Amino acid sequence: MVFEVKSTDLLGRVGKLKTKNGVLETPTLLPVVNPRKLEIKPKEIFEEFKYKAIMTNAYLFKKYFEKEVLKKGIHGFLNFPNVIMTDSGAYQLLRYGKVEVEPIEILDFQEKIGSDIGVILDIPTGFQVSRNHAEWTVKETLERAKKAVEYFGKQGKSMLLTGPLQGGTYFDLLEFSAKKMSELPFDVYALGSPTKIMEQYLFDILVKMMLIVKKNLPPDKPLHLFGAGHPFMFSFAVALGFDLFDSASYALYAKDGRYITETGTTKLENLEYFPCNCPVCKSLTPQDLKEKEKHEKEVLLMKHNLYVCKVEVERIKQSIVEGRLWELLELRARSHPALFQAFKVLSKYSKILMKNTPVYKFRGMFIFDEISLYRPEILTHKTKIVENYEKPEKAEILLLLPQPSSKPFHKSSQYKKVKKFLEEAGINMEKIHVCFYSIPFGIIPVELDEVYPLSQFEDAKPYNQKMVEEMVKNIVDYVKSKNYKKIFLHPDFSLMDKRKIKQLKREIGFKETTKNRDPWSLDSLEDLSKILRLEG
Ligand SMILES: [Zn+2]
Repeated sequence: MVFEVKSTDLLGRVGKLKTKNGVLETPTLLPVVNPRKLEIKPKEIFEEFKYKAIMTNAYLFKKYFEKEVLKKGIHGFLNFPNVIMTDSGAYQLLRYGKVEVEPIEILDFQEKIGSDIGVILDIPTGFQVSRNHAEWTVKETLERAKKAVEYFGKQGKSMLLTGPLQGGTYFDLLEFSAKKMSELPFDVYALGSPTKIMEQYLFDILVKMMLIVKKNLPPDKPLHLFGAGHPFMFSFAVALGFDLFDSASYALYAKDGRYITETGTTKLENLEYFPCNCPVCKSLTPQDLKEKEKHEKEVLLMKHNLYVCKVEVERIKQSIVEGRLWELLELRARSHPALFQAFKVLSKYSKILMKNTPVYKFRGMFIFDEISLYRPEILTHKTKIVENYEKPEKAEILLLLPQPSSKPFHKSSQYKKVKKFLEEAGINMEKIHVCFYSIPFGIIPVELDEVYPLSQFEDAKPYNQKMVEEMVKNIVDYVKSKNYKKIFLHPDFSLMDKRKIKQLKREIGFKETTKNRDPWSLDSLEDLSKILRLEG
């Protein structure tokens, strides 16, 4: 196996990618290194910044340094001991319309200079192009991919081979590309030409593209994102199943005098304080840095930017291991409205994230608002309770109790009081099935309330209407999937107002147990036991 997965959360994974130059832990960011402008030495990127892989452009090497790099090999030339991924000139093709190299020639060249991960010379679709053009890029890339795989198979390759997917924002073409390319034995797949989309902050479109790609590729293969931009979107790329991403933004922003933080960028000239403790920010004040001469300032900014990007990747990995990637997305989504918009798109497709999200985590969940309700853990519970769960055999009567104030619910003093009341009234508890209606999980059968994560969450009250509606929807789905002879609802007007209760009554039909405002008062509980004794 070339790629091995260690931990997963959402579609994100911590994995190991075997290359001829050692094992690369993913997700990983590959800083883009331009062989013509080595402002920070690749060796420093490895030793000082601890990046285990870099991305560079084989086409530029061929054009400007062919003899030297063939002699020294790319690792020797760049003096970088670890994994080097090379692009093939597709970016130049997109920018300048042509490259002076043949597809097989550049593939051969990448292998000869010792690249660890190579890319075929694809045709990037680009952004805002005609459908005809997009179709052509998909077909031509596919033809080139077939030839590359066939040629490489015969040569006995040592380099991992990447197959880029094209189609751009034509989602059906992108899907076609993903399906066809996945029939070819590439080691790595990549989403092509998203740069413009990211530059324009069209993250919602990007999320859709990523979902299409992920859905149609073999799950055991690593996935690369070309030209990932700002670190505030790395967690989104990882959550959607991307394992590798290259980025030149550390350098591009630095050239523009921009200082990267995990939530955005700031012009250096506007900074009075450094919100960072990297070696650059520790040793200088913003004023010191502003006063440096242009080139030195740029290099120092690049260094800070590299540190920030690295920390973000580590944070993402830790979030996967802890099962908190969703919470990191919630946090990052608030960095920019465009990211929040993307997060809303992602939450709509959250069912896709269910499969790889562990059913057990070491830590409880944090619920902030209705967006948190789209967490895969919650959708998993709601789906299971409707589709797979069977109620206790003898239970004919459903008693819907509001969520008590402490967890697990069945151990709360409020539930204990209910139980005592009903037992003292001589009610046959075998016939009665208690389910709690609650936010965020909707319906929680009493016997399950200790199963993870039904008691392991913290939430923010008061709940908003959308959250209440989601709960009501789950109650309806649940009741309709089971056959109880009678249903009683013990109302809690702080959780569901009279109008909502009326609406729910129309949909599933139940008897209210009390008119009392406090569901746990003695009067309420007396009403409850009375009605169950009479009608239960
Ligand atoms: Zn810093």
